[in-house]
Amino acid sequence: MRLLTLIAALFCFNFSFAGGAEPGPKRDTVDAVVMYGEELLFDAVTGLNDNQVRDLRDSVLKFHGVSTFSNYLDLYISLTSKTEEELVNYIDSLFETEEVPYALINQINIFLANRPEEFIVAIPKDLFIGKIGSPIPAEEMYPKWIVGNPNPYEWNLGAEDTALSILLTDHKDLGEFQVPVKNVMTSKFGWRDGRMHNGVDIDLEVWDPVVSVLPGVVRVARVSGGYGRVVVVRHYNGLETLYAHLHRFKVKEGDKVDAGQVVGLGGSSGHSTGSHLHFEIRFKGKPLNPLSFISFDENSLVNDTLMLKRTKNGYVSYPKGILIYTVKRGDSLFEIARLYGTTTYRLAELNGIRRNGYLYVGQRLRVI
Ligand SMILES: [Zn+2]
Repeated sequence: MRLLTLIAALFCFNFSFAGGAEPGPKRDTVDAVVMYGEELLFDAVTGLNDNQVRDLRDSVLKFHGVSTFSNYLDLYISLTSKTEEELVNYIDSLFETEEVPYALINQINIFLANRPEEFIVAIPKDLFIGKIGSPIPAEEMYPKWIVGNPNPYEWNLGAEDTALSILLTDHKDLGEFQVPVKNVMTSKFGWRDGRMHNGVDIDLEVWDPVVSVLPGVVRVARVSGGYGRVVVVRHYNGLETLYAHLHRFKVKEGDKVDAGQVVGLGGSSGHSTGSHLHFEIRFKGKPLNPLSFISFDENSLVNDTLMLKRTKNGYVSYPKGILIYTVKRGDSLFEIARLYGTTTYRLAELNGIRRNGYLYVGQRLRVI
């Protein structure tokens, strides 16, 4: 059902531009991806096996000739046959094009991130915990302690960063993880309208307390550009968390904080429309998708260990034990949620789908 909607959307696009300048096939595909917006294009066909995708491509070609959608399917087929390294190189080459096709890059990144077989190979041996209580948390991982600048790190990730495993919580030493604000997430991490949203937005009222998610030391507590009043905390496991658009500070730079300690009061300072918390999690300056390890619906961690895998431009993050479920005939989101002891809210959140949307046979859903 969803796939049909997708095809229809792409064909509409094609027809409406038929009279205009003739774009090249690659450009055409990119525009179609942009037009489709937040839905995950590759998700729509990853449920099909290679032969099914080829059959679909052949029938599309037979009935409609070369079109945006057949070009897209060709692109998809060429991606599935590439190694991860080739895909990373492909992303690099896209970044060098005149008009960088961010949406397409995002799609390929998601495609890469949904290849669980490759992640299993990448699971690192060592778990980084860090020295709890040291004056400069995770000092061995960073060049120097720079106060006041939210993101001063410009180094390129090295070979030692290829695959990392980070302990997120340990009740005795690291403290119990806390969500920064218990409220509704209003904007996700990722590309939006050709720009990267490096964190998530969480709704709040002005003066609502915002807490540090883990213990650590405050590296930044000042006004900084579009962030407005912003607090950055370095944690002992090497992660840094950023809390932006605050109305008031409740800590100063150099302060030690506990998990759950109030670092500021929410507001809409800086570049912000309406009061909300802009929350980022970074490792070595590279933004991570908080949804890989936090459920904002359940106000809890998804897993006690975070796995990081280096990409050309940063990291993809995922919880240990990621599990993909392939939808079978007759399945419902409710039943899948029950099967894996989770909720339909969480499944919708993990997969970027609507709770009451259609599932299709062969669709791959992340369940953990
Ligand atoms: Zn934001």
